[in-house]
Amino acid sequence: MKVFKTGAVAAAVVALALTATACGGSSTSGKAEGGETGGAKKDKVVIGIKFDQPGVGLKTPEGTFTGFDVDVATYVAKELGYQPDQIEFKQAISAQRETLIANGDVKFIVASYSITDKRKEKVDFAGPYFLAHQDLLVRADESTITKAEDLNKKKLCSVTGSTSAQNVKKTLAPEADLLELQGYSECLTGLENKTVDALTTDNSILAGFAAQEKNKGKFKLTGLSLSNENYGIGLKKGDKELQTKINAALKKMASDGAWEAAVTKNFGPAGYKSEPAPQITEGS
Ligand code: GLU
Repeated sequence: MKVFKTGAVAAAVVALALTATACGGSSTSGKAEGGETGGAKKDKVVIGIKFDQPGVGLKTPEGTFTGFDVDVATYVAKELGYQPDQIEFKQAISAQRETLIANGDVKFIVASYSITDKRKEKVDFAGPYFLAHQDLLVRADESTITKAEDLNKKKLCSVTGSTSAQNVKKTLAPEADLLELQGYSECLTGLENKTVDALTTDNSILAGFAAQEKNKGKFKLTGLSLSNENYGIGLKKGDKELQTKINAALKKMASDGAWEAAVTKNFGPAGYKSEPAPQITEGS
């Protein structure tokens, strides 16, 4: 009998733990419950970002977050009434972004997320807040890849669910031997090990990788501008109120100098010259 009771308690504990894991600490609204502060419950906001893109969205070994998208997310959250300590950053890999939003795992996503009609079938965007262009990263001694067509028959790496991979398959170099991985950092390892000949995605992301201390002198950008990538903040389809509030925050960020400061801080060290802040087009 005693044994049975212990077993039942253990089963209940396991069941509770499983429930907690399944919830992932967030409710369907992308709001997680925070701790108690002075007796009042402190809400948290869950925001999706990239964890492996230096200059854009990066989780450091110390567990802190840096990058332009992190600064944009933090600014927008503040305008929505959340202080930095109320933000929970969640990794949003390219292929998972629409799903994370639709499932309510995040309130919004700031993750080098290009606004496209296809994505707008599933999610809405605020913005755009940044304009990047697709480019190629090759090894420093590479001389045979200088334009998109040169990629045909070459081994090229990009990320599943990204516009970069789609553009290659559809138009840029349909004959390229395209390897699609989960994240750009995995592609970079392939480029270094010579298992791939080039890595393609937005120049904003590639510049950050090329400038990393451990990569200095190893890679170069070709400087091609193969597409326009307008970064938007992804949010639940139909949430007009949130879209309007985020658009207002982005406008304010561009006009009060915080946008420019974030560009200089995050892209300056990589020598990346960004385009000016784009006009807001979503939701109007
Ligand atoms: N901006 C492109 C996209 O949204 C490429 C970068 C990325 O995968 O995050 O697909």
